[in-house]
Amino acid sequence: MDDGAPRGSALVTGASRGIGAAIAKVLAADGWPVGVNYRADRGGAQAVVEQIEGAGGRAVALGADVTDPRASHELFEAMESHFDRPVLALVNNAGINRDDLCDDWSAVLDTDLTAAFRLIRRALRTMLRARSGRIVNISSVVGLRANPGQANYAAAKAGLIALTKTAAVEVARRGVTINAVAPGWIETEMTSEVPKELLEAVPARRAGTPAEVAACVRFLTSPEAGYITAAVLTVDGGLAA
Ligand code: NDP
Repeated sequence: MDDGAPRGSALVTGASRGIGAAIAKVLAADGWPVGVNYRADRGGAQAVVEQIEGAGGRAVALGADVTDPRASHELFEAMESHFDRPVLALVNNAGINRDDLCDDWSAVLDTDLTAAFRLIRRALRTMLRARSGRIVNISSVVGLRANPGQANYAAAKAGLIALTKTAAVEVARRGVTINAVAPGWIETEMTSEVPKELLEAVPARRAGTPAEVAACVRFLTSPEAGYITAAVLTVDGGLAA
């Protein structure tokens, strides 16, 4: 990455729509060959791949449920065989929320936290050998401040911040950075049912866009961000202040 051109490929989980799709597109624009992971929405992932290819980039759609313990291994195998490059950027973006349903604790923790742990562990095998790597975990402001009704999601996203900081410190000497991005209210399918009156609580008085989150991930994966690790970057219109 020293001359600015990525030497490896980038895997973005949950990239068939929303924030993940926006991240896949900006990383491809920076020259990363991108793995566009999805669970069910094959058509969405394929459309993202076509947009990237149409803009002159390289991408592949990779179906895998990240909660499956075999997914991390299978995704990395597929990435390496498709692009013939090591995976030197990982964005743990796949996430779900299940508000007000206490019995969905495991589903939320498995998707938003445990899957990220497995993918980080697998990614580090390659990155530590290469002495180069960028990992960005998509957390949430809800991991930093209370939001009634989202205990499972908040616990997962706060856990992801703790995982980010600890793993980052463990590998900091080896050329690998690990950071978290904590979006506030971003306009995607996930927030389509949230009552618009709640925007009153956002100092900027508007929702953010997937592109505004993707811009932060783009920076954190760039060579210029090499001295930033274990950080949590909020993208929330001031909500967490
Ligand atoms: P969306 O619901 O719009 O998209 C979620 C993406 O994750 C989809 O591509 C979905 O794919 C994928 N996904 C879900 N579960 C799995 C799984 N088990 N394995 C693989 N892929 C999976 O969400 P957003 O774009 O809004 O959110 C992206 C991330 O940002 C999430 O981690 C979310 O928690 C976080 N976030 C979002 C905020 C917001 O306001 N929107 C605020 C703060 C954080 P498929 O459809 O194929 O299942």
